This record gives sequence, C-alpha cells and structure tokens, in this order.
Amino acid sequence: MAFEQRIPRDTSANLFAEAQEYFPGGVNSPVRAFRSVSGPPLFIREGHGSHMTDEDGNRFLDFCCSWGPLIHGHDNPHIREKVIETVVKGTSFGTPNRLGNQLGKLILDNHRYVERIRFVSSGTEAVMSALRLARGVKGRNKIVKFDGCYHGHVDNLLVKAGSGLATLGTSSSAGVTESVARDTLVLPLGDRDLLERTLTEHAGEIACIIVEPIPANNGLLIQDKSWLECLRIKAWKHDVLLIFDEVISGFRVGFEGAAGLYNVQPDIITFGKVIGGGFPVGAYAASKEIMDYIAPVGPVYQAGTLSANPVAMAAGLAALELCLEPGFYEGLAERTAAMADRITGYAKEKGYPLHVPHVGSIFWLAFGNERIERADQIDPANMTYFKTIHHELLQTGVYLGPSGYEVGFVSSAHTDLDIQEAVAKICAAMDVAFSE
Ligand code: PMP
Repeated sequence: MAFEQRIPRDTSANLFAEAQEYFPGGVNSPVRAFRSVSGPPLFIREGHGSHMTDEDGNRFLDFCCSWGPLIHGHDNPHIREKVIETVVKGTSFGTPNRLGNQLGKLILDNHRYVERIRFVSSGTEAVMSALRLARGVKGRNKIVKFDGCYHGHVDNLLVKAGSGLATLGTSSSAGVTESVARDTLVLPLGDRDLLERTLTEHAGEIACIIVEPIPANNGLLIQDKSWLECLRIKAWKHDVLLIFDEVISGFRVGFEGAAGLYNVQPDIITFGKVIGGGFPVGAYAASKEIMDYIAPVGPVYQAGTLSANPVAMAAGLAALELCLEPGFYEGLAERTAAMADRITGYAKEKGYPLHVPHVGSIFWLAFGNERIERADQIDPANMTYFKTIHHELLQTGVYLGPSGYEVGFVSSAHTDLDIQEAVAKICAAMDVAFSE
C-alpha cells in the first residue's frame, strides 16, 4: 500500500539511514523501527507537555508517552527541577542515598500491597529478579505465564505456548534454550480449569504464576476481577507465589496499580515505567518476609551498579509526588474515558469495526466490535486498518505507538482541547481507513 506523505520526513529518513550503520535494524529496541507502519521512524528532537517535535520540525500530540513512563507528559517542570537540582551534585555514587530512602518511603507509605522494595534499572530487570526471588523462596524451577502477556526480554519469558494442548513452552527467540523454555508453562488467559489441572499435574515443581493483571502489551486485554481473584486463590491453594507484573499498570491506573484497582493481594509486584519519572528505574516489592530472601539478608543474589542512583530517584520521587495529588487519577481516567467513548461512539454510528477499551489512562484501538480478552481473539488481518490510521494521524499531527498491538497513554499534560483534537483526527483517520 502506497501512502501519500504530506509532512516532511527527510531528516528522519536520513538519520535512520545513518543509524543502520550503527545499530541492528537502525534501532536500540525493535518496535521503534516502524516495521508495522509506513515510512521511516520519526527521530524525535524534543517534547514539552503533551507534544513532541521531530527532527523535521513536525509537531505531534503524543499518545505513546515513551511507552508509558510519561504520565505527566514531556518535560514536566516539577520533575525537571528536581532532576537538575540533583544532577549538579553528581550522578551516581554506588552508595545508599537520601533520595532513595525518600522514594522508598513514599511508595511504601502509600501502597498497601507491599512492605519492602528493591530498585533496579528496568522493567525487565525487575521481572528477572522477581522470578529468581520466587524460585529462591519456593526452591522450585517452573513458572506459569499467560499467552498475551509480555514481561520484558527475560529468557524464561520469551516463551510461547507449545502446540496443541501442551502447556510446556517453546522458545520465542533464538538464543533462549529449550531447557529454559521447558521451565515455563504457558496458558491462555482466563482458562480456570486448565490452570487448576496444570497446578495439580506439576505439584511441587512450580515456583510462581506471573501475570500482567491488566495485559497491555498485546492489545489491552482487560480481565475480569474474578479471574484475578481466581489466580490469587489457586496460588494459595497450590502453595505457589503470585507475581503481578505492574510495569505498565503500576502507578498508572492508580497509585496502587492493578492490585489496588481490583483489590487483589499478589505476593510480589514488579514495577517500571511511571516509577522512574522518565528515567531508567524498575523495582520489585513484596512483604518483608519474602523480600528478606534477597541479599545481603537472604540467599537470593541481586545487585546493580546504577540501582537507585540519585538522579533517577529524584525523577521518580517528583513524578510520584504529583501522582499523589488529590483527584489526579480520577481526572486522567475521566479524560481518557471521554476520548475513548467518543471514538467508539463515532465508529458505532458509522458502522466501523472498531472500539476503544480503556482502563485508567490506558486505551487501545481494538478492531471488531466484540470485547477482546485473549490474544487469540485479535485478528492480525485488521492491522492493515491500523497502518492507515497511524499514517493518517502522523499527517495530521497525532502520534500513536507504531504498532496496532500497542496501547496508548494519556498524560496529565493532555488538556481537554488536546482530547477534542485527538478525537476529531482519529475519527477522520478512521474515515480514510475504513473507506478504502
Ligand atoms: N513487563 C511489562 C508488563 C512491560 O510492559 C514491559 C515493557 N513494555 C516490561 C516488563 C519490560 O520493561 P523494560 O522495557 O523497562 O525492560
């Protein structure tokens, strides 16, 4: 499909051609290469508030928000000030520091589901450490994960369901050994009987169940609260740990994330994205009893040169302070719902096969009119619609993540006018996509 290009993209195209000389595929993270949409990836020069500007000078209303971290938009003044105040005093000492304490305290004082936390530098690192912790606590190797959930590029989790009814995983990336993959059991979301059977058949072998309580990496697969409660009960019943991977949902759908939203107590929670205020921070947290398995107190080793460095802690602290302001999450959720519901309403009126599920400030353009709760309900053929919508939106100054499987994020920097503009432009892009 050839797309009419109405905005200049030459500078981005040239920089991308240059980047091919340095990085595999020209990028440092695969989805940035724009392989599922049209044109070269945009090289972004700067961002302020709800907008960002590329190297060709095009300005975009940004709904990717760096894939979730920027809940306060770009260049938030409070975060910027805290970071600048900190960075001039040195960037990393490899020692404990006061800002780390402050962020730790702020989180633990306001999150009822965890008692101790350990900071790391990415979501992947948080998940990798949480799995090791679960195995260390239980003294077992196997883990249960769900098809449609993404947990970063941890070896054990780059695993997809095996063929047929077999739950034993097979590697989904070269370089992940079959022996590692075999320790991961992959189940469909929502299949309570299969979960029960798997936990029974592998009794004494499974350390933990890991789930994205709000799966947001393969579309937005909003789950029933009763399914999350079922996971909790079955984990207790079969004496395995329950890990909520809240790298996206943590501090995003509420300060207490999905645990708080659904009122379900997991054993371990992983965090990333929002927690670092736009800097590389991840964390895992649990009860004191479980976290005491971590070195230097306990036998599970985990460390990090730049963990809890003061600049990242300052950014995280500033970001989470803003999140705690009264009405913060309610306002965000209202604006997101208004946007999503207006788009869904327009699609319905026109008979377009699209609706926009949303939770908190996360939304997704879902093709078809039925609720989608599992990865296998997504029809890949519909991604051609997304490609057109994405392209049209770039032409009119709206940026969505460059894949139809990715969710969008609304930040507190998005004004009601921004939302109105986005609705109008997304509806116009749908007109183009569905008239072809
Ligand atoms: N878990 C979840 C739920 C995620 O969404 C992601 C990133 N999209 C990760 C883990 C990995 O985080 P990172 O990219 O910071 O390593």
